[in-house]
Amino acid sequence: MGKQDEHGISWTHYTFNPWWGCLKVSPGCANCYAETFAKRTGWDIWGPPATTRRRTFGDAHWAEPLKWNAEAAKAGERRRVFCASMADVFEDHPSLPPIRERLWALIEQTPALDWLLLTKRPQNIGQMLPRRWAAWEVPYGRVPRNVWLGTSAEDQEQFDSRWPVLAFEGREWGVSVLFLSAEPLLGPLDMSVWIDESDEDENHVYVRGIDWVIVGGESGPKARPMHPEWVRRIRDLCAEHGVPFHFKQWGEWIAKPLFHGQRSQTAFWGCMDVDGIFNPQTTTWNGRQGHPPDGYEYTMLRVGKRLAGRELDGRVWDEFPGDHSAALAGLEGVMRTAPASASDDLYPSAERTDRDAKGGV
Ligand code: SF4
Repeated sequence: MGKQDEHGISWTHYTFNPWWGCLKVSPGCANCYAETFAKRTGWDIWGPPATTRRRTFGDAHWAEPLKWNAEAAKAGERRRVFCASMADVFEDHPSLPPIRERLWALIEQTPALDWLLLTKRPQNIGQMLPRRWAAWEVPYGRVPRNVWLGTSAEDQEQFDSRWPVLAFEGREWGVSVLFLSAEPLLGPLDMSVWIDESDEDENHVYVRGIDWVIVGGESGPKARPMHPEWVRRIRDLCAEHGVPFHFKQWGEWIAKPLFHGQRSQTAFWGCMDVDGIFNPQTTTWNGRQGHPPDGYEYTMLRVGKRLAGRELDGRVWDEFPGDHSAALAGLEGVMRTAPASASDDLYPSAERTDRDAKGGV
C-alpha cells in the first residue's frame, strides 16, 4: 500500500503539475475540483486556448521531482507521481509544447519515480509524446518504463471512446503500464471486452489489456452519488482477470447499508437505481427511514467525503500494478529493451498466476 500524497490521493506518493489550467471536455469535468481550487486562489485559467492562458512555474518547482527521485533512490523503492492534478498533460494549447518538452526531460532524469500521466485526451498522445521515445524510430523502443499512461472514464460512453485510443497508443509506443481512472464514476461501466490482452480482435489487431483500475466517487459541493453496484461490478471483473483494483473513495455520498458512521441525520439524501436515476428527498433523513421505494435499490446519504471513507464491503481495496523496480537501477534501466509487449516483461506468466492466487497485488 502506498502512502498518500499531500493532497490525500490514495494511489500516489506525489503530485506534480507542470502547469495549471485546462478546458472542460466531458460530463466528468462538470464539477472539476482543479478549476474550483484555481479560482479560489485567484487564477482564471480554465477555458479555450484563444481566451485563457495557463499558469506556469519556475525552476524551484521543477526541481522538486529531482529531490523526490533522490529520496526514493536512497530508500531503495519506487514512488509514484501523479501528473497532473491541475491540468491535462495532453491538452492542445499553443503555450504548452515547450513545457511538455521540459516534462519529458524531467521524466528521463527521475528513473526512481513512476510517472502516472492521466488524460481525458488520449487522441493527442501520438502527436505529443517525444519522437525520441517512439518505438518505430529506432531499432528498439525507448519509452521510459517509468511512464504509465492512463485515461479517465466517468461512464460507458467516455470509456468506449477513450480506452481503445489509449490501448492503441500504449501498444504502439510500448508503454509499460496502462491504467483506467473511473473517477468520478457517474454510471455503469462494462470494460470486459478490453480487460485482457489478446492476440487479436475481430479485425485481427493485437489488443492491449488494462493493467490497473482506479475507481472513485465525486467530492465537492455539487458531487453526484455513485451506485455501489457500479463499483462492485468493476471490482469483480478485475478480480476475475487478475487486474489490480484500487478503490479511492466513495466521495460525498454513500449507500445507507454501507455507512457505519455515527451520523444520524442529514438534510441531503435520496433513492437511486442502478441505471443512475437519482430521486432526491426533501425531508431530513432521521436515521430511521426504511427501505427505498420500489424501483430503487439504495437509499443514498450525503455524509461528506471523510465520513463516507473508502471501504467497500468490509475492506479497503488498495491494489497496484506489480513492482517492476528490480531492473530500474538507472536511466538505462528504465529504457525499454524491446519495442512491444511491455506487459510481458512486467507480468511474466508465473508472476501473474501468483498474483491471481492472492486476489491482487
Ligand atoms: S480534463 Fe481534468 S483538469 Fe481538465 S477540466 Fe476536465 S476534470 Fe478538470
